[in-house]
Amino acid sequence: MAQILVTGGLGFIGSHTVVELIQAGHEPIIVDNLSNSTASVLDGIEKISGKRPTFERVDLKVKAEVRDFFSRYTTLEGIIHFAAFKAVGESVQKPLEYYENNLGSLVYILQEMRDLQIDKLIFSSSCTVYGEADELPITENSPVKAAISPYGNTKQIGEEVIKDAIEAHGFNSISLRYFNPIGAHPSAEIGESPLGVPLNLVPYVTQTAAGVREQLAVFGDDYETRDGTNERDYIHVVDVAKAHVVALDRLLKGQNQGNYEVFNLGTGKGSTVLEVIQSFEKVSNSKLNYKIVERRHGDVTAAYADTTKANQVLGWKSEKTLDDAMVDAWRWEKKIRKIN
Ligand code: UDP
Repeated sequence: MAQILVTGGLGFIGSHTVVELIQAGHEPIIVDNLSNSTASVLDGIEKISGKRPTFERVDLKVKAEVRDFFSRYTTLEGIIHFAAFKAVGESVQKPLEYYENNLGSLVYILQEMRDLQIDKLIFSSSCTVYGEADELPITENSPVKAAISPYGNTKQIGEEVIKDAIEAHGFNSISLRYFNPIGAHPSAEIGESPLGVPLNLVPYVTQTAAGVREQLAVFGDDYETRDGTNERDYIHVVDVAKAHVVALDRLLKGQNQGNYEVFNLGTGKGSTVLEVIQSFEKVSNSKLNYKIVERRHGDVTAAYADTTKANQVLGWKSEKTLDDAMVDAWRWEKKIRKIN
């Protein structure tokens, strides 16, 4: 059992990872500033896992708060760093807030790791670092392309900052580049709860079906894909959460090859927007109200992962299907909207 700091541990991927950590026998300590989550997520975590993890409300972009937290928790063995802003469009409007929040917090955490000799870090990165990849599926060796958004840039720079800190201070770190995490815990005790109008496809689909949104807009059907809509690698959030536990155990056991490793987290299978809608309609036995509209600025045509490295080196593989994820996303949406 290891005591592990989970920043952003009340968020979508963070909360699912906390459950998996507890179930694997670890002791997660959650910090979150509740900027895009609520403390009630702790109830869901407790219902699933039988344990209520320690939670501290800390704003990681405030150095004094970071210092204070680490001065009180002196037996941490590793850190899983989720806490970050994540909306691509918003990052274009508010770039300075994105750089301050996403990079400031990372730098402060790395400084504490240096000072307190905590040497294990898992970092939430993103397939956005690959941009419009020249070849599909995308391997970890695909070149990192110039970021299209400040959000994407914070992930690229974040990886660079970690690499430089490793050179100087000898940490061990794994960056996990997520493709499109979706779904919810099968228990429907935790899930994705975007504040305001959802920007991501699956919560928009389920909110439309629940009557919270009028109609889903499908952003473009004139791409060079099998049906003209964008292709993405949608992966169940529980599979993503489990990968964090595997990556953490790799660091705890010293099994990492070199002190910085990168893994793609995807299923290896691309699905188009229309295929996601079809999957939803099938599992919910309903028709979704949608219409095709103009392309959304900044969307790449297609992105899906080559999962060979994660499968063979990390020893992790996604297990759930797109249909499984849609079933769970819909069950969660119905629960929070009190629909039978
Ligand atoms: N999308 C859509 N309508 C929406 C939201 C998303 O058609 O309301 C499409 C979007 O153009 C992309 C895919 O769904 O092709 C996934 O978008 P999302 O924002 O969920 O993730 P991204 O791949 O941009 O990180």
